[in-house]
Amino acid sequence: MKILVANLGSTSLKWRLFAFNGQQSEVLHKGGLERVTDYPSAINDCLGQLKEAGAIQDESELTAVGFKTVLAQTVSGCVELTDAVLQDMEGGNLIAPAHNPPYLTGIRLFAERMPQTPLVGLFETAFYQWIPETAKRYGVPHSWHQAGVRRWGFHGASHKFMAERSAELCGREDIAHRARQLYVDAGNSTVGDADFRVISCHLGGSSSVTGIRNGIAIGNSMGLSPQSGLPHNNRVGDLDAMAIPFMMQKKGLTLEHVIRDLCSEGGLKGVSGGYNDLRDIQSEANKGNEDAQLALDFFVAEVRRWIGAYYLELNGIDALVFTAGIGENQASMRTAICENLGNLGVYLDPEANESCRATEAVISHEDSPVKIMVIPTNEELVVAREVKRFLEKNS
Ligand code: AMP
Repeated sequence: MKILVANLGSTSLKWRLFAFNGQQSEVLHKGGLERVTDYPSAINDCLGQLKEAGAIQDESELTAVGFKTVLAQTVSGCVELTDAVLQDMEGGNLIAPAHNPPYLTGIRLFAERMPQTPLVGLFETAFYQWIPETAKRYGVPHSWHQAGVRRWGFHGASHKFMAERSAELCGREDIAHRARQLYVDAGNSTVGDADFRVISCHLGGSSSVTGIRNGIAIGNSMGLSPQSGLPHNNRVGDLDAMAIPFMMQKKGLTLEHVIRDLCSEGGLKGVSGGYNDLRDIQSEANKGNEDAQLALDFFVAEVRRWIGAYYLELNGIDALVFTAGIGENQASMRTAICENLGNLGVYLDPEANESCRATEAVISHEDSPVKIMVIPTNEELVVAREVKRFLEKNS
């Protein structure tokens, strides 16, 4: 079985082709195109590269194309991307303007180009299907809730991978198995008596923290849209809702202007005075730029706020995990986040932390009750596996 996982950005197309032999998977090809202006040609180029590399002889060998779809109005989980699902996704365009429209465009073009091939989406919200009702709610009028104003949670594929891999690294195969089985076989999060509790920090261009008990998420720092929770590279993060009418009235901002500011001028970019890549922010801070230093400190404080929330809810943790561009690469960020948490059982090993760069590693002190880990994320593998299961279940 060969499954192509396509990662669609507004100007990029990245892919990985997986071959499955039973439960074993292998990446046959991976590639990407940047600065895409003509998506149909980009899809042709992608398929052309797969053929040139000998990964496929013909497109008909692709059992399915999988997508890490972000948000729909009512649909979640792993589903075939029918017209009805795409319409439901359209309903999320306003609140996920950087994510949903490129996916919709790309998926429709794949459907035109490969009408015989099933297109399957694993929604980023899928990992949060079993979070408690309290973690889904906002204190909005009932009519708002009924209209869909609720907390979803995102980065589900990445946090699910952290749930699996952290359990494996801690020798908890029972939990790892349970996390791997998710979506097919889920709901009841009880695994014997022994809890295994993880806080997963996906820190990258887009960032979120998830609490995980026994392989299943209990909540995520992002809410209704991927603009919420932690400050992102250029997206706002959590904000008092009244800031919006305040700015509309005070500065005469239009709705379009507000959306643009929230989705592309906020977050680390807003606080640092224009820098949205952590490497640039760090180098500015090193030169004495106070706004850049504030952006770093603010980010750390917000990550710690969410770690604190899940630490309390989980009544302690067994593992603290870092992943994604910042989490995997920026040792100083991990140091700052873990600083002075000894009373919670969190002790970093400074040398292990400094020497870890984008590789899987345990970076806690050997006596630390909480294992601190860096785990490079593998969202595409999660998508491919779920697509495979979806196909097997529905064949
Ligand atoms: P991601 O969304 O996981 O691809 O992460 C991208 C972000 O990670 C970038 O915007 C940077 O802020 C950060 N990043 C990527 N590489 C590094 C690095 N080597 N050191 C520090 N931060 C990095």
